[in-house]
Formats: sequence, C-alpha cells, structure tokens
Amino acid sequence: MPDALQKIADYDRLIKIFGVTPISKELLSRLPSVHKLFEIGYFFAHRDFDKVVEEWRRGSEFAILTGRGPSNVMHLGHLLIFDFVAWMQRTFNVPAFLPLSDDEKYVFLKIRSLREGRYYAYDNALDIAALGLDERKTFFFISSKTREIYEIAVELSTEVTLSEVKAVFGFSDSDNPGKYFYSVVQSAHILFPTIRKGYRSLVPIAIDQDPYIRLSRDIAERAKLPKPAALHSKYLPGLTGEPMSASKPETAIFLSDTPKVIKSKIWKALTGGQPTLKEQKEKGGNPDKCVVFKWLEAFVLSPKEAEEWKGKCRRGEIMCGECKRKLYGEVVKKLKMHHKKKLEVAKKADKFFLHDVDWGEVDKVVEKTEEILKEFTSS
Ligand code: SF4
Repeated sequence: MPDALQKIADYDRLIKIFGVTPISKELLSRLPSVHKLFEIGYFFAHRDFDKVVEEWRRGSEFAILTGRGPSNVMHLGHLLIFDFVAWMQRTFNVPAFLPLSDDEKYVFLKIRSLREGRYYAYDNALDIAALGLDERKTFFFISSKTREIYEIAVELSTEVTLSEVKAVFGFSDSDNPGKYFYSVVQSAHILFPTIRKGYRSLVPIAIDQDPYIRLSRDIAERAKLPKPAALHSKYLPGLTGEPMSASKPETAIFLSDTPKVIKSKIWKALTGGQPTLKEQKEKGGNPDKCVVFKWLEAFVLSPKEAEEWKGKCRRGEIMCGECKRKLYGEVVKKLKMHHKKKLEVAKKADKFFLHDVDWGEVDKVVEKTEEILKEFTSS
C-alpha cells in the first residue's frame, strides 16, 4: 500500500488522536437496520451518534448534513457516501441538508469564478438526488446563493477566534481572508438545520475532517446549541492504491467516464495477485492488499459474498482477470442506470433546492448527461 494511504489507514491511531468513539456492535443493535458500510467497518467511529439514535428512538428527528464542494464531476467514492445518506434518510425518515460550497472552492482557488461553481453544483446535486433522495425531505443549497447562511455565519463569527481558526485549518498570514471567513460559513452550513429548523445535525464525514466538526461543536456549545454529531468513515483506496483524486484521473472512476475509459482504468488497477497465473493458483492472492477486492466489497458484494470471495482468492480459486471483469460489468451497469435516473430527477430539480434553480445550468447538465449516456447505450 502506498505511504500516503498507509498513513491515513491507521484507523486505531486516528481514533486515539482525534478522541472519537469507535462504533460498537451494541450501538448498531439499536438501529432499525444495519447498512453494509457499518457491517464492513467503513463507518467505524462517531461523536454523539449514540445520543442522536437515543433521541430519535424517543421521537425527536435529526437532520443529516453533508456537503459537496462543487469544483468537478463526482466519482464513485463520493456516490458511496451519498448512497449511505439516502439510506439514512429512508431508514430514519429524516431530512437531509446538502450545502454546495461554491464559496469554499472559490476562496481555495479551485474554481475561477462562482459561475463555474454553479454548473458543478447542479451537476453534483443531480447526481446525489438520483440516488433516491426524497424530494420532500431533501434541501440542497448553493452556499453563495443562500442569504441565511451568510447571516448565520456573521452571527457565529463572534463565537470563535482567529487563533482557533488558524490552529484547526493550518492557515498562515499569507492566506486570503476568504479562507478564514469560510471556516465560519462551514459551521453555518453544519448548524443551519439546528438554528433554523430545530434539528440536531448528524454529519457523515471522512475521519481526517474531524477537526472541522470539532470547531463547529465548540461554536455550538458557546452559542448554546445542541452540538452536531458525526459519523466517521475510512477511505476507499483509489484504483492505483493512492487516495482518489481529481488531479490523478487514473485513481478514480468519474461519473463522466465512458465504458472504454472505465475498462482501461480497472484493467490497470492494483491487485493483490501473484505475478503469474501458475503462482496465483499455487499460492493464492492477497485480498487485504487488493484494491479490486476492496471496490468489489464496497460496490458489488454483500458482506457474506465478500467473505467467500476472499477465501476463494486466498486458495487460488479465482484469478484477477475474473475480478476485474466482474467489477467492470457491475460498474457499467450501475452507471448506466445512474445516468438515466439523473435525467429523470433533472426534470424536477427545483423540488430539491431551498432556493430558485438556474434552469440554464440544469439544461447544460442534462445535455452533458445525455452525451455520456449515449456512450453507455452504444457500448
Ligand atoms: Fe484481488 Fe481478485 Fe486478484 Fe484476489 S483474485 S488478488 S481478489 S483481483
């Protein structure tokens, strides 16, 4: 496993460093049902999720809050988290708030204008909505278009000091002031459902993002609000074994990738296989070091099937080509269906947003999605 991933994959160490609580079997037994990502340990730690569950069992609703920085098309790793959000919404029958932080992407120089962020905001939102979110309980909002967020951010800004922001985000004096102010905008996103609607927020988040949650929890405490809870996830390794990244397209499968591109990426993916078929049959492979297996486990197989698959790999009963073919087939099937659903939800995009929708941007997204879908139907 490459060093960068090894470092973030030492999850026991991260639990200690961040002081978060591991998710116990006892906690999972109190849920109405258990999602596969809990079963395979992908969500592995939390802050106050136990309290949220307890309050929910006593009849108080909470809100799921998870954002997206719209600077690019999403990849399959993102879908995994938002699929989970849709499941949480269905299972607990709770609202989902989804800030699209074009302001963040602009001040961090990831997009050249807020206008550029708009296109990706609608593109990403429709991808997320296509996962089956309930339009009556789903509230997307583009951060720079939402006046209430600005108002809340101004109010919350007096609850935090510049040194705290510097310590959490690692900013220096050469960083632009937009980055500093965005730190309270982010807390405004997280606390928006609490301040305006009275719901405690539950934020599914990658473990290394925990310091941002901690800052919002400190701010909430000072503002005498219920502290947001969090569910922490691990990282799904990218196809090359490195973290998935838009700057390294070979690490991830993007929702704009054609079947041809997907095939070539999966064929080059890192496996735990032996150098030759003969050795693979004799010695077996190592699924624990195999990215293809981790992707099959996350996207395709049930936990029981994944265990059986592991056994077959170790005994040399399956070859890497077979796994790659399966992953490719399932990913293409999934994405073809996904693009069709995206086109359906695009027709009612306005139902999912807290503010007016820019139909011109939605039309551009539809045009692009139709182009991509053509590639899937002709392959
Ligand atoms: Fe991975 Fe499959 Fe190869 Fe085993 S046989 S190492 S699971 S790709």
